[in-house]
Amino acid sequence: MTTTAASLYAVSRDELSACLSGEPRYRLDQVWAGLYTQLAAPGDITNVPKALRERLAAELPTALTEVTRQVSDRGDTVKFLWELVDGHRIETVLMVYPDRVTVCISSQAGCAMGCGFCATGQGGFQRHLDVGEIVEQVVRAGREARAMGRRLANVVYMGMGEPLANEVAVWASIERLHEAVGLSARHLTISTVGLVPGIRTLATRPLPVNLAVSLHAANDRLRDELVPINRRYPLDELITACRDYLRAKGRRLSFEWALIDGVNDRARDAAELAKLCRRLPLPAHVNLIPLNPTEGYPTVGSPPARVHEFHRLLTDLGVNATVRRNRGTDIDAACGQLAAGRPVTVRRERPQSTPS
Ligand code: SAH
Ligand code: SF4
Repeated sequence: MTTTAASLYAVSRDELSACLSGEPRYRLDQVWAGLYTQLAAPGDITNVPKALRERLAAELPTALTEVTRQVSDRGDTVKFLWELVDGHRIETVLMVYPDRVTVCISSQAGCAMGCGFCATGQGGFQRHLDVGEIVEQVVRAGREARAMGRRLANVVYMGMGEPLANEVAVWASIERLHEAVGLSARHLTISTVGLVPGIRTLATRPLPVNLAVSLHAANDRLRDELVPINRRYPLDELITACRDYLRAKGRRLSFEWALIDGVNDRARDAAELAKLCRRLPLPAHVNLIPLNPTEGYPTVGSPPARVHEFHRLLTDLGVNATVRRNRGTDIDAACGQLAAGRPVTVRRERPQSTPS
């Protein structure tokens, strides 16, 4: 068995076929379906002979070793900490809702974008993940969902890393999840900090995946500060790329907005955001997330009353917005809290609120 790919979920169907040379032709279908439809570990693909299962397990090792798993929301949120073969660590979060099951996956070990409010950014960049490491997160989480009697159908690239800085591997994973696992492209969401070249590449890709852009500020002065990559791709360029993406794909675009106390939660922030949304050819959807605490960022998330007020202001300005419920803050599994096992949460006293 020879292969150029390193891990089980990195090999393409053709490469797996080469691995199975000497076996009856139908084995390829059996193994492929075992891995991606049944989400079985190679040793558990029971319709192929034991000797072959053992050979597969030995020659195509998995890329992720489970270090820990933490559970919250009475079992409905599970955070996995994995070790990669070179010792780097990443995290994956499985979220079970009454009507759907979603997994939040990492695209890089660490992140080079340096957003100060994000635990991943605070830890710096280690390396890109390859397609096998990305796909395996979905398979392993899907296996867990199946053990709970549920089917994983939604994948969000909102874990550690910037997916569009690793676009080639990310796109290869999208194709594998669509073709082999059978997930609908409409249930796959890529979240980006706003890498304009990546958004333009994505616009040329065939599958209609969802795009979420982490905006957080609607003027360059504030966005330069919160999201340093804005200095390279300022808002005007970013919104033009979003507009072109919408025109090319016709898919809904969403903006992520982490509400930070006294920083981007005032009436004028809502007005600027509404103005920016009006530049798009289709209505954007704004997801409001009160900022989660991280060790390296002193300012707290907006208090609930301000979150609701901001939501109301946007609605009055004709913008579709939703306040996102936070999952897993008690196990550092919420947005921006993935730090590969480093301690993240410091509980801070909220300062007395000052009217804006
Ligand atoms: N790098 C990509 C995807 C991973 S981050 C991106 O930035 O979009 C996933 C989401 O969590 C982004 O919208 C990000 O801005 C947000 N986020 C980061 N830190 C956060 C925090 N402390 N509280 C709430 N959301 C945060
Ligand atoms: Fe990277 Fe996204 Fe965190 Fe920014 S918010 S540091 S882009 S993971």
